[in-house]
Amino acid sequence: MCKACFNDDKIHTSTTFTVEYNGCIIVVRNVPCLECPICGETTFSDSVSAQLEKIVNSVKSVMQESILQEVSVIDYSKVA
Ligand SMILES: [Zn+2]
Repeated sequence: MCKACFNDDKIHTSTTFTVEYNGCIIVVRNVPCLECPICGETTFSDSVSAQLEKIVNSVKSVMQESILQEVSVIDYSKVA
């Protein structure tokens, strides 16, 4: 159920997840999610959330080595 508008229907789709870290931006594309057709609210399943956390953590460790990289774009479908 949608947390924002309490609509029961959710569409299986994909979205782009973005997180900012130390002035750098980590972008994960093609992340599977559930989207509310009424208000557009998107939610991730537990396994997708866990996978996203793993991806972000591994990108963070790479970023600490290469400070010059300001934007990191990862394709979820290729790493998951
Ligand atoms: Zn909604």
